[in-house]
Amino acid sequence: MRTYLVTGGAGFIGANYINYMFKKYNNEIRIINVDVLTYAGNLENLRDVENRDNYTFIRADICDRDAINKIFEENDIDRVVHFAAESHVDRSIVNPEVFVQTNVLGTATMLNAAKKAWELPDGTYKEGKKFLHVSTDEVYGSLPEDGGYFYETTPYAPHSPYSASKASSDMLVKAYMDTYHFPANITNCSNNYGPYQFPEKLIPLIIHNALEGKKLPVYGDGKNVRDWLYVEDHAKAIDMVQEQGRLFETYNIGGHNEKQNIEIVKTIIDILREELTDDDPRKAHLSYDLITYVEDRKGHDRRYAIAPDKIKAEIGWEPETMFKEGIRKTIKWYFEHQEWMEHITSGDYEKYYDGMYSKK
Ligand code: NAD
Repeated sequence: MRTYLVTGGAGFIGANYINYMFKKYNNEIRIINVDVLTYAGNLENLRDVENRDNYTFIRADICDRDAINKIFEENDIDRVVHFAAESHVDRSIVNPEVFVQTNVLGTATMLNAAKKAWELPDGTYKEGKKFLHVSTDEVYGSLPEDGGYFYETTPYAPHSPYSASKASSDMLVKAYMDTYHFPANITNCSNNYGPYQFPEKLIPLIIHNALEGKKLPVYGDGKNVRDWLYVEDHAKAIDMVQEQGRLFETYNIGGHNEKQNIEIVKTIIDILREELTDDDPRKAHLSYDLITYVEDRKGHDRRYAIAPDKIKAEIGWEPETMFKEGIRKTIKWYFEHQEWMEHITSGDYEKYYDGMYSKK
């Protein structure tokens, strides 16, 4: 039975990954989820798996060397899947230091602990051990509006403190592979969407505000382009890279699904209007009039677009969920889980949100 150490498993992608892995492997694997539970970590995301005998949650900080070493000493870890990070670009602009702390130093702690536990006296590693570092396409910088794609060979050019910290963590993983022959992979994925995403990110934010009749903030002219991937497709890609990919390689993961932010916002309004019944009072106010253009994000990258050619050619992974289907599933999920949304949009979130968007 393989034992996984998943970091950041109470967050958006980590929780979807854990849920996906238990659906796929059931009792064939064991998962230890290490998460310090920042504002973005939510154990409600793991309700479906929390009582399993082959699942353990440990509350710990990935920067806490002793705590992480102890987990490796007490468990024979076969796979590390490293999600834990500060992940929101806007927060990184306001408070960059915690991004360096968690994303760079935390990754160094994870690498050191795994190396210490797995390395043999002759400098090779115990059979079959693997570390996967989950990263973002934002490390590659911005593309022109009229074309081009990010490949695994595209030079890094991060612009925000978030992407700079993720780029630094990628470089550390690369250095461990090159210097110590450390058995790892890196994946760089485009924007994810789906259930359990914290409502500071575009899609859940717009769904939440639209249902509450609040303004829908859109940065700048709304024409920044991102590639969107359904989160379960990302979870599947991570598993496939770890089991079928070549060690020491980087794989780009993307949805072949470029959209302007304003298109996303309008699509959500259209679908919500279809889903709400005519006598639902929320439908009356739901229109494009709620869209409010706000001052652009500082250093806002114009366009991201991933070329997932390598993962397709070598591993046979392709996005399975078409955007139309994925966005409908996602909206339906938030619709049916309004209690989940209410729990996290009270208190601190409200304070954060109120200070965030200034009108143009
Ligand atoms: P998230 O913010 O929803 O979750 C992050 C999780 O990490 C939370 O549960 C949080 O409590 C935990 N965490 C934060 N600091 C920690 C620490 N010091 N110790 C232990 N746990 C800590 O993020 P997400 O959107 O799920 O992203 C997960 C990973 O995927 C990140 O590394 C991110 O860079 C990467 N990624 C995200 C996207 C995206 O669209 N969301 C796209 C590509 C890559």
